[in-house]
Amino acid sequence: MTTVRTRIAPSPTGDPHVGTAYIALFNLCFARQHGGQFILRIEDTDQVRSTRESEQQIYDALRWLGIEWDEGPDVGGPHGPYRQSERSEIYWKYARELLEKGHAFYCFATPEELDQMRAEQQARGETPRYDGRGLRLSQDEVQQRLDAGQPYVIRMKVPEEGVCVVPDLLRGDVEIPWDRMDMQVLMKADGLPTYFLANVVDDHLMGITHVLRGEEWLPSAPKLIKLYEYFGWEQPQLCYMPLLRNPDKSKLSKRKNPTSVTFYQRMGYLPEAMLNYLGRMGWSMPDEREKFTLDEMVEHFDLQRVSLGGPIFDVEKLSWLNGQWLRELSPERFAAEVQQWALNPEYLLKIAPLVQQRVETFSQIAPLAGFFFSGALNLDPALFQHKKLAADQVRLVMQLLLWKLEALRQWDKERITAVIQTVAEHQQLKLRDVMPLLFAAITGQASSVSVLDAMEILGPDLTRFRLRQAVELLGAPSKKETKEWEKLLAELG
Ligand code: GLU
Repeated sequence: MTTVRTRIAPSPTGDPHVGTAYIALFNLCFARQHGGQFILRIEDTDQVRSTRESEQQIYDALRWLGIEWDEGPDVGGPHGPYRQSERSEIYWKYARELLEKGHAFYCFATPEELDQMRAEQQARGETPRYDGRGLRLSQDEVQQRLDAGQPYVIRMKVPEEGVCVVPDLLRGDVEIPWDRMDMQVLMKADGLPTYFLANVVDDHLMGITHVLRGEEWLPSAPKLIKLYEYFGWEQPQLCYMPLLRNPDKSKLSKRKNPTSVTFYQRMGYLPEAMLNYLGRMGWSMPDEREKFTLDEMVEHFDLQRVSLGGPIFDVEKLSWLNGQWLRELSPERFAAEVQQWALNPEYLLKIAPLVQQRVETFSQIAPLAGFFFSGALNLDPALFQHKKLAADQVRLVMQLLLWKLEALRQWDKERITAVIQTVAEHQQLKLRDVMPLLFAAITGQASSVSVLDAMEILGPDLTRFRLRQAVELLGAPSKKETKEWEKLLAELG
C-alpha cells in the first residue's frame, strides 16, 4: 500500500493566516492517522507578492501551534527543493512536454490586446474570456515570434463543452461545466509557472496522495484534473475543506476578525487551545467533547466527520475555550506559560531601554508601560480631542494610518515612521501633530515611552488591532466616507 502523503502549500504573501493553520492541521491529522507524512511546500511563484519574511512567519506560526512537518524548505527531504521559486527548470520541462503533446500553446497577446479583447466581448454582452487567438497562429509564425524574442505566455487547452467531474471526498462527484474554464496561463511572461502547473507538477513529484485544500479552490479543480490527464499521472484524492467564516457567515476576513495566527499568539492565547479550536472547525470528536489535544484529534480523526456547513471562527468561543485550558493548567505551568508569553528575557530586553531612563523603581514600570502586556486597551475618548484638528479629521487620520500600516509588510521603526510622515504630510500636518493620537491609541495614555519604538516592539498585529479599536471608538467611516477616504488613500501612493 502506498504511504499517505499530504501537504500544505501556502503562498508567503502576507501574515500567517488562521485558514492556513486550519488546513495544515487537517492535513497533518490525516497523514498521522494513516502513519503517513506531512509536507510543507512554499508556493512563491508570485515574485511580486512573496517575501522571505512572510515565509518565516508561516514556519514560526505553525511551529508555535505545534504543527510539525516531515519535509519542507527548512527541514529538507528527498523531494526538494520545496520552494517553488527554486524549481523553475522542472516546470519548464513539463511545460515543454505539454507543448510537444499539443496540450498547450504559446500566446503572444500583449496585456493591452487582451484588455481590448475583453472590452469588445463585454460590449457584445458576452462573458469575457480568452478567445483562443494563440491557437490560430501557424507553427512558422510562432517560431518567428519566438526568434524575434517577443514576450509570451504558455496556456493550456481546455475542452469547450461537457462537464468535468471532480471527485471530492466530502461532496462526492461535483460536476463543473468546461465552458466556465479559461485557457489557463501555465507559464507567465516572467518565466515562472502559475499555481496550476506548479501545483500539479509538485504534488505529483512529491508523491502527494491526498490533497485537503480550502473549498475556494473547487471551481478551478477541472484545470488541475485536466493537467493530470494530459501528463498521464494518477490524480491524488481530493478533499475540499469548508471555508472559515466570520460570525455573520461571510468569508473570514481581517476586517471583521483578526486572521493572523501571530495576533492570537501576542494576545496570549495558548497554542494548544488555538489548535484545539481550529480542530473544532467543521469537525467534532466522536463524543462531541470540546476540549481535546492534537494527539487525541489524530487518534479519533475521521474525514467523514467533517461537516460542510461553513465553520464559524468566533473569537469569543475561542476565548472561552482558551479559558478552559488555562484553568486546567497547574499553577506552575500557568506561570511558565505567562513567562514565555511576554515575561521572557527577549521581550523584556526590547522594553528595557525604553523604560530604564524613565523610572526610579521597578514598581513604576507597570503604570508607565503596562500596555506592552495588554491586548485591547480601555481607550480614553478625551485623549483623541485634538488642539488643531476637528473630530472628523482625527477620524480620517486614524483610518489612513490604519490602512497604511495594514499594508506595511516590513515592520520596523523607520518604515513605520515613514508611513506616519506620509499621512501627516498629506493632511498638511507635522509629525508631532499626529503623535498625541498615536499615544492615545497605542499606549492608552497621553504620554508614555516612545510610541514609535512601542509600535515596533508591539508588532504589526497588536498595533493594527489598537488602531482599529481607536477607529471604532471614534466612529468607523460610513460607506460614503470609506469611498472618499479610499481615494485619499490612493493619493498617498
Ligand atoms: N498556494 C495555494 C494557497 O496559497 C495552495 C492551494 C492548494 O492547496 O492547492 O492556498
